[in-house]
Amino acid sequence: MNAMLFRTKASRQLPRQHAAKARNSALLAGARVVLGVAFLALVATVFMPILGIGEALANPKVTTARVGDHPTHTRLVLEMDGPFTFSYFTLVDPERLVVDFPELDFDLARNPLAREAIGAIGAMRYGLFKPGNSRIVLDLIGPSKVVKAFTMPPVDSYGYRFVLDLARTSQEDFIEQARLTKPKQPTPAPVIETPAATVPQRSDGKRVIAIDAGHGGVDPGAVGAGGTYEKSITLAAALQLADRLRETGRYHVVLTRDSDIFLPLRKRVALARNAGAELFLSLHADSIGNTKVRGSHVYSLSKTASDAEAAALAAKENKADVIAGLNLAEYSSDVHTILLDLSQRETNNTSIEMADRLVAGFRKNGVQSLNRPHRQAGFAVLKAPDVPSVLIELGFLSNKEDEAMLLKAKGRAPIIAAIVSAVDKHFATQTVQN
Ligand SMILES: [Zn+2]
Repeated sequence: MNAMLFRTKASRQLPRQHAAKARNSALLAGARVVLGVAFLALVATVFMPILGIGEALANPKVTTARVGDHPTHTRLVLEMDGPFTFSYFTLVDPERLVVDFPELDFDLARNPLAREAIGAIGAMRYGLFKPGNSRIVLDLIGPSKVVKAFTMPPVDSYGYRFVLDLARTSQEDFIEQARLTKPKQPTPAPVIETPAATVPQRSDGKRVIAIDAGHGGVDPGAVGAGGTYEKSITLAAALQLADRLRETGRYHVVLTRDSDIFLPLRKRVALARNAGAELFLSLHADSIGNTKVRGSHVYSLSKTASDAEAAALAAKENKADVIAGLNLAEYSSDVHTILLDLSQRETNNTSIEMADRLVAGFRKNGVQSLNRPHRQAGFAVLKAPDVPSVLIELGFLSNKEDEAMLLKAKGRAPIIAAIVSAVDKHFATQTVQN
């Protein structure tokens, strides 16, 4: 582990703006260390009274990312407008390098690894991992070792820099590096408290619905034809759907996330169950190779996939935790091995009915849907044993028309209305059964 610290400067940006900016940009760098925390606290103590209420210290902003392929190593440089600290660790299966920083704003015009691998690095993701902790995750092409990782202060036209040199190495060496850099604490699973205000009052007769905005933070999900991130679309749609459902006066809505932050899949399920959710709706917007394909579709859980595409999509969605740099080996394997026991089978029947209602709602509202709009596959996020769960693909971000439609609240309105009416029908039926 490596750590460096510079000073931090103040500004007037609010956390919300940070989140919005992070959503729009491309890549970057920083660290965490007791000394750094103490220093930031000192800075806060000195400057906060001058700044006044409502103003906060700005996060360092990542402005540039460069990658160079050299004969002996691959160099990644991240440039920032303020000081930062960092720490890193490597993960096997698949080979990844994770660099953690304090919270950063990503304002990159370009991610050099967005479309192509360079040297030892296959791809790079970046974003908020949990409050106060931004992260970059590098997918490595085979085993590579960190030969240098350091920071540089500003000089001439260059800002604060994070520099990382990677060189190819043997599998044995890579495994040893993963062991040596392993954080002392188990991999930091984000701790997200269910906000007290959203814990439902069951005595008022309202039904409880969990809405799950797919992906988030360091996991962008699919990237659209025009560069739209799935995580932004799912969050906008989740907030819109929550508003419409609350307006009816019939529902309590619990959001698994309401900002651009990463959440492990099983945490999403746990949040819904802890809040007493009676229905779990996970929102997504997929991307595929054929850019002509468009339309919404709905998935319910099944041990065997209804078709090859459904199986491939489930495999992709289930990788979210790997994408964000979690070491799954350190977690109990409940997410991966929950069996379809009796209670889940019953829950599953209700999920299947809900999925069919959604499809009918889409049809009625003139929402463009795929052929066979209800499909089945083994999605980890749908595996709450006792909460009927459905995954809704709002459309295909790989299709320009779907992407343009999903970007606007007005474009999303017919799908949202269809979901609300399907939810109404679902609970009307449940009441009769009870
Ligand atoms: Zn997704």
